[in-house]
Amino acid sequence: MSVVKLKAGREKSLRHRHPWVYSGAIDTVEGEVVPGAVVTVTDAQGGFLARGYHNAASRIGVRVLTWNETDNIDADWWRSRVDDAVAARAALEAAPDTNAYRLIYAEADRLPGLIVDRYDDVVVVQMLTAGVEAARDLILDAIEERVAPAAIFDRSDSASRQREGLTASSGVVRGDTERTTAEILENGNAFTVKFGSGQKTGFYLDQRANRRRVAEFASGRNVLDVFSYTGAFSVGALAGGAASVTLTDSSESALVAAEQHLERSAPGADNVEIVQADAFELLRGWSTEKRQFDMVVLDPPKFASNRHQVEKALRAYKDTNMLAMKLLTPGGILATFSCSGAVSQADFTLAVSWAGIDAGRDVQVLERLSQGADHPALASFPESEYLKGMLCRIP
Ligand code: SAH
Repeated sequence: MSVVKLKAGREKSLRHRHPWVYSGAIDTVEGEVVPGAVVTVTDAQGGFLARGYHNAASRIGVRVLTWNETDNIDADWWRSRVDDAVAARAALEAAPDTNAYRLIYAEADRLPGLIVDRYDDVVVVQMLTAGVEAARDLILDAIEERVAPAAIFDRSDSASRQREGLTASSGVVRGDTERTTAEILENGNAFTVKFGSGQKTGFYLDQRANRRRVAEFASGRNVLDVFSYTGAFSVGALAGGAASVTLTDSSESALVAAEQHLERSAPGADNVEIVQADAFELLRGWSTEKRQFDMVVLDPPKFASNRHQVEKALRAYKDTNMLAMKLLTPGGILATFSCSGAVSQADFTLAVSWAGIDAGRDVQVLERLSQGADHPALASFPESEYLKGMLCRIP
């Protein structure tokens, strides 16, 4: 096995179990290494640190698979990691009201570069790195053995694959080649997920617990769902007794799906409004018109992709939250989120407090929200804790 030796003094983050080796920390790579090959990582003196996979084309030169020198990264190793991740979701598998959840969340499930989501009887995989691509068949075998899905759909077409020197791939790779959709249940509500065309692997599974919380607060309220995507917060809010729901998103296809989801859960409802718009323009316009809601859900796309974009992102969080607060009746509820891994909970709290100052309103934080338990965060890898939310009351 090839050996990647680090520069002197660059081993600290690995000793703290952070699973990435940046290319700048690497001193020498011994031997010919193909992209994705398993390597041993040592400190400058040659002492064992970890075993992982290497890609010279990536900014992240090595992603750690194990801290254990006796581990051989073979078929049994991949199977045991897949089995462990699936076993950790046993409670979700048994839940009668939910059949869609994340089975494997990459680094946080100690399988860097691999995302696996379950939608009823179909499994959708995202293989984001050359190291995962090199183990493709072993991983698919392990999933088939452990989960026995009707089909495995490969949704490996993200931009991050290009940075790894990989081409995009999308389509069924195992099982029923005709399967491109699934009918799922989340918190007892029904949705149709299209694997090939939607965002992420088709659905924002990370918000399941937060949708339940929002539904509990929605009773009797007129709810505005900003950045609604396919309407999952609104379907939950209506089921929770909301007086009305107003959804807005810039994506037409997402709103077509949202309309179908709402029609299915509340047939013929006359308290549903769907508006295709740029959220910033719409919120500004409605705040000038003094439109009012009793609850606003604000779940924007990632405003910061890395730490250099944090400052600009915080301004965008401040602006959207300030506009949302202006639309809230006294005592209204704001459920606000950031899915930017680079923005900390403390920074996000600061942006929401600035929003209150600019809107001339107090902000009472009722609860802090996070990603669901099927999206674990690794304590030694803060990047894995990306979703932050707050449930606020605006008196
Ligand atoms: N709340 C959704 C997930 C939102 S993801 C859910 O629970 O499923 C972010 C959404 O923001 C996407 O649907 C995307 O289409 C939308 N979006 C991105 N930029 C936007 C903009 N400028 N105005 C309105 N919507 C936007």
